Amino acid sequence: MNRIARRSGALTILVILLIAGFVFFLAEYTMNAADWVMHPGSPHVYANDQIRTGVITDREGVLLLDMQEDGWTYASQEAVRQATMHWIGDRQGMIDALVMPAYYEEVLGYDFLNGLYSYGKDAGTGGVMALTLSSRLQAVALEALGDYKGTVAVYNYKTGQILCAVTTPTYDPDHVPDIDGDPVRYEGAYMNRFLQSAYTPGSIFKIVTLAAALESMEDAQSLEFTCTGSWGEGESPVTCESAHGKQSLKQAFANSCNCAFAELARQMGGKTLLEYVEKFQVTEPVSFDGITTASGNFDLDEYYITLGWSAIGQHTDLVNPATYMTFMGAVANGGRAAKPYIVESASDGKNGYQAQISYGDPVMSSETAAIVRQYMRYAVENKYGADHFPGLTVCAKTGTAEKDGERASNAMFAGFVTDEEYPLAFIICVEDGGYGASTGIPIASKVLTACKEILDQQ
Ligand SMILES: [Zn+2]
Repeated sequence: MNRIARRSGALTILVILLIAGFVFFLAEYTMNAADWVMHPGSPHVYANDQIRTGVITDREGVLLLDMQEDGWTYASQEAVRQATMHWIGDRQGMIDALVMPAYYEEVLGYDFLNGLYSYGKDAGTGGVMALTLSSRLQAVALEALGDYKGTVAVYNYKTGQILCAVTTPTYDPDHVPDIDGDPVRYEGAYMNRFLQSAYTPGSIFKIVTLAAALESMEDAQSLEFTCTGSWGEGESPVTCESAHGKQSLKQAFANSCNCAFAELARQMGGKTLLEYVEKFQVTEPVSFDGITTASGNFDLDEYYITLGWSAIGQHTDLVNPATYMTFMGAVANGGRAAKPYIVESASDGKNGYQAQISYGDPVMSSETAAIVRQYMRYAVENKYGADHFPGLTVCAKTGTAEKDGERASNAMFAGFVTDEEYPLAFIICVEDGGYGASTGIPIASKVLTACKEILDQQ
């Protein structure tokens, strides 16, 4: 009897240990299974450090990347491959698949109860991630940029969808060139300039100075300026290419008069300008889909001539293209823009992610935004030519950003469309592109016209 009792006691302990072990394993599995399955060492998902299940498409279902056991297949069109690689990654691992990390589970087709249920030829090919990008638009923007380095991006400021975001230089992932052998042509080829760069903005920054003045100075709109072609007594005065003479603030904005905007900043004061740079969030990074962009820069220098240069987008000013595009969206949309995003959905049929519209903070009053829109429209109608944008009401500002110690300048062009059917904000940065007007406007014309066609077809 004693022996039986002892045995049953030992058995009880064994059973308890077994149950405890099982519970422990279950807990571990629950918490870590996803990590185990999706760990880069897992043969189910990865081969040669590459994901081997799932598909990435553009907004219209055009295949951008098919990740299967026997390798990666990119888009059939070379231009689309070149124009989208900086979002979906390359085979060599030089360019990250930026859109992937936040939605691994959905793309891989994994869940806790069923494991990798969509893995393998019989079970399916993994999940589908649909981007907001239009592959047609990407190809148009890539062609419009030509041999220039830079970035072109357009997004819907009411929904947040990024329709176009191209970065150059790029190359065909199916025919990788000798990048190290041509360092000039492929300078920064692995970088996504839309996300990771920060450019001297030049005169597109006058939008910031204008909005700050409208918010902080009651009489800003009635100010008058007389430009003699040079402003400031001392070293490195602010200059214009020619004397603009007497101008209203609106005319000075359309003329892109450096002297007038330096004087405007002097009257406003450096601390006030800095306060609004921060309020407008133009030097803040933007974050979406697990991606965070580069920051910009604005240094307060109370010396009035240096402040003057800061107010016209020179000195140490820097802006990230994605951030400035979002700022353009805020001006277009009454002071508050939808946050940009690039992943529309990711689903394996069971687990799904669907993007939601989310708005950023209001950065300026709707009254200020309305006046800035009028000024930017006035610049397009009177300086740039509204006929570059048939069927679209475009508001914009050019910039020609001088680079320290170099003769070449970056061409910048930023703005938006105010038509209800085409709520688009855009940014164009062309390195060594010369004048913003002569280089940026033709690119914007081609890309926005293509945007209009694509939206008309939807
Ligand atoms: Zn001037």
